[in-house]
Amino acid sequence: MSVVENNKFNFTAISDDCIKCGKCKSVCPIFEINHDETTSPRGFIDLLGAYKRDELELDKNAKEIFESCFLCTSCVEECPNDLPTDMIIEQVRNDIRKKYGIAWYKRAFFFLLRNRKVMDLLAKMGWVFQTCGLKINAQNQSSKLRLNLPIEMIQDRTLPFADKKSFLNTYPENINVENPKQKVAIFIGCMGNYAYTNVGKALLKILDRLEINAMIPKKQLCCSAPAYFTGDFDTVDYLVKKNIEYFETFIDDVDAIVVPEATCSAMMNIDWVHYLHDQPEWKERAAKLAPKIFMATKWLENNTKLADILKEDGKQIDDLITYHDPCHAKKMQGVHKEPRNLLKQNYVLTEMSDPNQCCGFGGVTMQSNNYKFAKAAGAPKAAMINNTGAKVVSAECSACRMQITDSLGRTDSDVIFKNPIELIADALK
Ligand code: SF4
Ligand code: SF4
Repeated sequence: MSVVENNKFNFTAISDDCIKCGKCKSVCPIFEINHDETTSPRGFIDLLGAYKRDELELDKNAKEIFESCFLCTSCVEECPNDLPTDMIIEQVRNDIRKKYGIAWYKRAFFFLLRNRKVMDLLAKMGWVFQTCGLKINAQNQSSKLRLNLPIEMIQDRTLPFADKKSFLNTYPENINVENPKQKVAIFIGCMGNYAYTNVGKALLKILDRLEINAMIPKKQLCCSAPAYFTGDFDTVDYLVKKNIEYFETFIDDVDAIVVPEATCSAMMNIDWVHYLHDQPEWKERAAKLAPKIFMATKWLENNTKLADILKEDGKQIDDLITYHDPCHAKKMQGVHKEPRNLLKQNYVLTEMSDPNQCCGFGGVTMQSNNYKFAKAAGAPKAAMINNTGAKVVSAECSACRMQITDSLGRTDSDVIFKNPIELIADALK
């Protein structure tokens, strides 16, 4: 069965190929919450087949159903026929957007993703004013609203906050060492650029220790993942093509584009090609870039002597660490051994009961209209992290960081979150 035929997603073949075994249901977070066949992977596939045969109207009920998927790909990993539930839901969300439009606050957010300068300005203003409205927890790079309003989406919620200066505006475009061994470009991601700026700083420290030249491409835009998962394909089209054109100007000069973010990395080296399935020329251009785009831990583990340096010359730190597998890292890119191997050189690693279980982030819609589902999916993840007794939970993903920090906050946990890149840099002398 070919998922894409004649440049179109083959919904009927996908639906026909579901053998109704139900294996996907046991790993699906929304089925775990609702216990309802309609909101389960095979339910989604069934309904999407009916929708494409014109047997199901895209009414408000269907919209709610298709917006309840976390796009975590747990079902794809489990399915004996590799049925791409996530991809066809992404496609139908674009139909939902065309029929119902997008809420004003999401439109405003996507406008900012397309306009870096306006975003820079707002982030700066946010930094100036945030102390009035937010209680900042600097150690955990998180904040809470001072006023606890009775609105579920913000009530008692732990959120990231903007740093004083964005990562892209802090460093020069080229950071060169004497006698460089290699050269990489850094794609930092929006959360790493504005909120979790320590991650980029840590990556630069690691590259310097490895004697690798770092390029920070200043015109990089959002990878488009938030818009893709929401179905705003106009914004996706703009961001993907701008980034492709820009990356092509320097891709031959670097060994890799390293990304300390699972979602951005998976978006650029896998989902850009999926998105461009009906635009062959652009698809080919995206496919040419993909082999040079890596999650940072994967590239560092496979292409440098970092593990040896950490082992022979790093600080031994007694802190107990537990690692969560972001869906976009392990399930989509097969990255799970690399961060663990680097971390275990200097830290004591302990595994939570199910590191591969989705944290419940789910994207912009899940974090706004459907926040009740994000909260419900986050609770078991927080419990399994707390049960390890670890001091730090780590994952190479800022979306997981935002969601897990919020979920842990509801349990009054002392566990703090760090990207593995930050932990590795801390262990380097
Ligand atoms: S992508 Fe995740 S939430 Fe969506 S159907 Fe599959 S397992 Fe369920
Ligand atoms: S695991 Fe795959 S084949 Fe089995 S019910 Fe789920 S979607 Fe269908």
